[in-house]
Amino acid sequence: MLVTSGRQLIFSVFAIVVLALLASVVAWYMGPASQRILVVFFVSLIAVVAIGVYSGNSGILSFGHVSFMAIGAYASSLLTVPAMMKAATLPKLPEWLASTEMGLLPAIVIALLFTALIAVVTGVIFGKLEGSAATIATLGLLIITHGVIIGWRDVTRGSGSFFGVPRETTLVVAMVGAVVALVVARLYRDSISGLKLRASRENAIAASAVGVNIRRERLIAWVLSAMLMALSGALMAHFLGAFSPKSFYFTVTFHLLAMLIVGGMTTVTGAIAGSVLITIVTEILRHLEGGFSLGFIDVPQIFGTTQIGIALLILFAMFKKSDGLLGLKEWEERLIKFTHPAVSQQSLGAVEPAGFLTAQGMTMRFGGLTAVDKVDFLLKPGEIVGLIGPNGSGKTTLLNMLSGVLEASEGTFKIGDIVLDGVPSHFIAEHGIARTFQNIRLFGHLSVYQNVLVAALSTNGGEHAHGRTQSALARMGMSQFADMEAGTLSYGDQRRVEIARALACQPSLLFLDEPAAGMNREETDALMDMLRSLTKDLGIGILLVDHDLKLINQLCDRISVLNEGKLIAQGTPAEIRKNPAVIEAYLGTSSEQHQ
Ligand code: ADP
Ligand code: MG
Repeated sequence: MLVTSGRQLIFSVFAIVVLALLASVVAWYMGPASQRILVVFFVSLIAVVAIGVYSGNSGILSFGHVSFMAIGAYASSLLTVPAMMKAATLPKLPEWLASTEMGLLPAIVIALLFTALIAVVTGVIFGKLEGSAATIATLGLLIITHGVIIGWRDVTRGSGSFFGVPRETTLVVAMVGAVVALVVARLYRDSISGLKLRASRENAIAASAVGVNIRRERLIAWVLSAMLMALSGALMAHFLGAFSPKSFYFTVTFHLLAMLIVGGMTTVTGAIAGSVLITIVTEILRHLEGGFSLGFIDVPQIFGTTQIGIALLILFAMFKKSDGLLGLKEWEERLIKFTHPAVSQQSLGAVEPAGFLTAQGMTMRFGGLTAVDKVDFLLKPGEIVGLIGPNGSGKTTLLNMLSGVLEASEGTFKIGDIVLDGVPSHFIAEHGIARTFQNIRLFGHLSVYQNVLVAALSTNGGEHAHGRTQSALARMGMSQFADMEAGTLSYGDQRRVEIARALACQPSLLFLDEPAAGMNREETDALMDMLRSLTKDLGIGILLVDHDLKLINQLCDRISVLNEGKLIAQGTPAEIRKNPAVIEAYLGTSSEQHQ
């Protein structure tokens, strides 16, 4: 299922097909040399968009993808080389493989499935890693795969050349392969999984908090991109006819990543642009590398010109445009306005009969500091509970534990009968708890609409996602900003989008961490009315953290007060105002109330 306007996609696919055909026709007329360049270009392009499917959408740079290219190349070659040839070059091949002789298409299909299998296994293992650890692990994958290929002589001919592969990658075959890969990558980007993954790239904590199972989405992208890599590898093998493990190692990795990084990782447009640019620059430099004459002066042969030239291009792109030359948006996204599907709005009330949140003995230690110390807490649907306390008293930390962002050092909490200790954030979101963040965590480069849609898609099975998105935006008065990039809004608007995003989860309980911070009096009053209506109309229970005691006093049914991690008072606003311990805690740190 797709989550963008059909028109954008149709234009995109149309442009891809037209460009590919045009390039092929031009190369056809220009002769065999141009045709060869274009075939290599098409096959490389498949690999570039393939890496983009994973790295661009997840934000995790991969150095390991060329492994899958190698696996695709060897697998499809082993299946297609004639049995006679195999008997001569690979005498120790297992009988079933030795006698197999397939056509290109079935061989590629099997090679892709085989690669997918390996990708599932490696993806599950790598899924446990984050950020640069994940990137470094992919480097390990490249080296291990290379080692295995060299070591597995009976099947791969070791470090020697694997030859005799039927040369079946014609210009047409390469073009069809490239079109297929580009369309798949483009569709994936705007699939539900692709959108969720892009949200997690923008902000992993927030994505989990609205119900995105990041590991699952990463695995999907990993497997899909591995299969596209295998397609590229297989087509390359059938173009070259002979290759060795070196053909799929660091040099190619560098080349492909250069294309991706220079063009822009996050879009198919960027991948195409980077591939075109690097291919042209490479061709020019390759001619110059052997030395050339300027008429009056002879420039001698300089080795490594191509590599250095590409490296300089990467540096230039990084300094000028770190998101790549074509940045974060597809060309058609710039040209064609996204029309939101017309759907009836949805009630945002919780679907399941909402349960109480009960927490006991919640404790969080950071090294020697006990940030939250044996705090008990209760929140019912339909009520507003204030959580106040001086700066650093543990309010945010308590919220982080109750929403699965942090795992508690001690204590237990549950919603209804479902125990939530140690479960991932997205699981808690699916069970009816949504939240906002003190330091705003939007998906900055996604549109406001997409920010909210991700939440709707990731909760309650994604049902009526567009209806919930539009209702949530309307309720927060943010509908007119739907198409804006979320990161460009004012803080007040960003906070409202965050609340809309939380509401789209159809929560029974909502945690708001200083939602009025950065809002003026007028905005704050409007927010208060809004929160009241949420409890009245929808029966949502709200946990409200704020420094604004006026807001807290007017709004809350009950108030809990934290000081230095300990719960020092609980009660109605009237009781809290009179409580001596609270007065002392606040007087002792009175300067902080005004921050
Ligand atoms: P509040 O939200 O009430 O201002 P916090 O919960 O943010 O307070 O912080 C409580 C204490 O825990 C502070 O001393 C803070 O420095 C510390 N703290 C919060 N988060 C972390 C963390 N991730 N790692 C280490 N210390 C933390
Ligand atoms: Mg805080």
